[in-house]
Amino acid sequence: MSLLELKNVTLKFGGLTAVNDVSFAVEEGEVFALVGPNGAGKSTIFNMISRFYTPFSGDILFQGRTILDRPPHEIAGLGIARTFQNIELFEQASVLQNLLAGRHTHRRSNFLTELLFTPFVRREEHRHREAVEHVIDFLDLQAYRDKTIAGLPYGVRKVVEMGRALSIAPKLLLLDEPASGLSVEETQDVAFWIEDIKKVLGITVLMVEHDMHLVSSVCDRVLALANGRQIALGTPHEVQTHPAVIEAYLGS
Ligand code: ADP
Ligand code: MG
Repeated sequence: MSLLELKNVTLKFGGLTAVNDVSFAVEEGEVFALVGPNGAGKSTIFNMISRFYTPFSGDILFQGRTILDRPPHEIAGLGIARTFQNIELFEQASVLQNLLAGRHTHRRSNFLTELLFTPFVRREEHRHREAVEHVIDFLDLQAYRDKTIAGLPYGVRKVVEMGRALSIAPKLLLLDEPASGLSVEETQDVAFWIEDIKKVLGITVLMVEHDMHLVSSVCDRVLALANGRQIALGTPHEVQTHPAVIEAYLGS
């Protein structure tokens, strides 16, 4: 069974077919990339997996079960976390607070028990704290732990954005353009983190990325899209040298 499977997924915005009959499967333990020119439908696919959008037709399965009957707020609880192409952090809060906030998107305790602050909730708080401190150590963010997001360099914010997603210990991590806006050195750091996320944490990664050097260095398989349609699937090398992919990039 694949960890994630899209079956003949189509999504339309009015008269525009943003995603057109796309099917692919992500296997547990791999790093899988979606590539393609701007407007290819990559972020729209992420938004369907996050359940912000519902496909017009087709199905999306996670661990063999459809997720189309789930609302967006239940997706993290299933073990799917994501980052956003445009970083979405609380600017005036610290790194630690942002990671805790990410973690709380799937807390189990309800509002009333929180108000009463029972021992159960205190135990839960302790678990959240531990999980978040673990992510801070893993991503080497100790120096920034109590710093406000607004004062941090862009490259560090990108890593914190990954940390926010990792804080729920997901089974599947969706990274939307993890290297966009980063320097060559910062992109190498991101490549290093993605490799460790796969090898050390054992988390499966589905990413959207423009930087083909990054894709080639960290991805096991790549699906290329253009104008909402899938045009090639294979290893990074196979996809990069595929005539339809070359044509799509030249035409864009
Ligand atoms: P990518 O991430 O590959 O650059 P997107 O998935 O963002 O592409 O967009 C795919 C197509 O759908 C584009 O033509 C885009 O303009 C359109 N689109 C994306 N989101 C919306 C939306 N919310 N409303 C209308 N059109 C959209
Ligand atoms: Mg996009």
